[in-house]
Order: sequence, then C-alpha cells, then structure tokens
Amino acid sequence: MKAELLSLLYPRSISLETVGSKAHDSITSDDINVKLSYSKVNSVELNLIFAKFLNNDECKSRLFWELYDFSKEIIDEKYARRYLEVAITERILVCCPFCNGTGVMIFNDKVEFCPHCKEGNFIYSDDIVANLIGIKPQKFKKKKYNEIINKLMDIENSALSKIGDT
Ligand SMILES: [Zn+2]
Repeated sequence: MKAELLSLLYPRSISLETVGSKAHDSITSDDINVKLSYSKVNSVELNLIFAKFLNNDECKSRLFWELYDFSKEIIDEKYARRYLEVAITERILVCCPFCNGTGVMIFNDKVEFCPHCKEGNFIYSDDIVANLIGIKPQKFKKKKYNEIINKLMDIENSALSKIGDT
C-alpha cells in the first residue's frame, strides 16, 4: 500500500518505469509537492494521508491540531482531546497490534484466530474505544465519536479521490 501511494504521489514525468535509469534519490520532495499541488490536496488531507500511509508522526500531530477545534465543537472540551486522539488512532492504526495483522495467533503450537481483529484489521469495539479514551463504557458518547470518525473518513476519501484523479 505504501509503495502504491507513493507512486501516485510522484509526478507522471517520473513514472516508476523510468526510475531505473535515474538514481533513486532523484525523486525529491519538490517532485512530490508538484504532484500534490496539481492534485489540490489540502493541508489536512495531506497530513492524514502521510500519517496513515507513511506512518509520519509529525503529520499525525499536525492533523490533530487541525481538527481540535472541530472536536471541541462536538464534545465537551474536557473530552475533546481524547476523543479526537482515539478517533485518529482508529483511522490510522488499522493493522491489529496483537497479531501484527496476520489474523492468527499461535498458542501452544496451535494456530487460533486472533480475538482482537477480523482478518488482521483491529476491532475498535465500543468498550475498547471507551477504554482508550479513558472513560467507563456507559459514559461513551458513540454518536459524537462517530461524527469525528466520519469527518476523518471524509478527509481521507477526498484526498484519495483527488490523488487518483490526476
Ligand atoms: Zn489480530
């Protein structure tokens, strides 16, 4: 997925087929910026894409601050920070950390399905989300949390459609 995304970000003039004739480091961040300016990906979209697909922590932090005001509008300021942090994590950390995304675990030489995920995709159940936020499950405001999740999904879809369109 990472390689796929990067190839989308590269300017067409430097297609991956011609890369072989050039040094790899000839693809600069300027090249990527050119591609991004054509694709009209905005700052919040860029930060989400880099945070998710390139594991960039700085972009993750910028994404957080770009959405913090939005989060405060939705949920009590006391919880806005944690709700947003966990929602960003849910959208970015898809791969199950318990089985490393394999979907299976080995116990005493027996292979069993990992109970924390579905085919390697970590299951963010209400109880787990509440736990990550640091509140009791009965205090978890799922509707508000989902508003933040939907916002993040919209940003991601918008970014991917812009990148794919060019
Ligand atoms: Zn798992």
